[in-house]
Amino acid sequence: MLNQIKGLHHVTSMAANAQTNNQFFTSALGLRRVKKTVNFDSPDVYHLYYGDETGAPGTIMTYFPFPKMAQGRPGTGEVGTTVFSIPEGSIGFWSDHLAKLNATGLKTEETFGEKRLNFAGPDGDGFAFVEVKDDNRLPWTHGGIGDDHAIRGFHSVAMRLRDDGATSELLKFMGYEVQEERDGVKRLTIPGGNGAHLIDLETMPNISRALPGAGSVHHVAFAVENREKQLEVRKALMDTGYQVTPVIDRDYFWAIYFRTPGGVLFEIATNEPGFNRDEDTAHLGEALKLPTQHEHLRSLIEQHLEPLEA
Ligand code: ZN
Repeated sequence: MLNQIKGLHHVTSMAANAQTNNQFFTSALGLRRVKKTVNFDSPDVYHLYYGDETGAPGTIMTYFPFPKMAQGRPGTGEVGTTVFSIPEGSIGFWSDHLAKLNATGLKTEETFGEKRLNFAGPDGDGFAFVEVKDDNRLPWTHGGIGDDHAIRGFHSVAMRLRDDGATSELLKFMGYEVQEERDGVKRLTIPGGNGAHLIDLETMPNISRALPGAGSVHHVAFAVENREKQLEVRKALMDTGYQVTPVIDRDYFWAIYFRTPGGVLFEIATNEPGFNRDEDTAHLGEALKLPTQHEHLRSLIEQHLEPLEA
């Protein structure tokens, strides 16, 4: 069993409109945009990163806004819900706040003994808030949401699977332990994790496979401290029979990817070097940053991308 993984690093999803996406995460949810860059493979498409002040691993929600992309169809083989941690007693605030902004899918419930508010993102993205006592991660409070309510980072992701067996075994190999099973949902945890270290597996044997589109999660990334630990994980996964990509430099972290038995795309990402690699922490996310190989296209890219407010 591996011990290098500490929880989630980031979740990457797709959206249909960059400006709507930017507004929702910065203004409605109060996260900080920590990087404005482009997709490595399609430099005409933004890659937007939202998180805490520094974009700490376990807080980073990232998006590829493909203009006018059709919405995805929810199903199995995907992350169905991305869950954020909020302070105890703040559900009422969020429920009112999101209702005022005409958010859809609002539903309060209690699961695993936790108070939870489900809601949908601009493209029908499956989100929830869960109240967590004593989450000591520092929130970003300059986005208009105060310390009493602000998002602390991820709490978990929930994956929808036709069968959770092989994915559950894989997660255990990656260092997760089964914590509890309730109402057909298996919860796994990493002892001593980074705060974003819970995974829920929902088994839906009769639901067909998701069709990805706007509002769908593209992949989920797990955090390791550095490149050395990443290589240890890569070797262990390959020795177990997984097809893992070579290490890819993503400018703000190094990444490896592999498809899991349940259909979800996993990434293992390093905590180094971080988002202040090419801009000061005080100005993260303000300027358009381009991967070196696309820098010569800057003027074309700048003309093509729709400007984002703030
Ligand atoms: Zn990623």
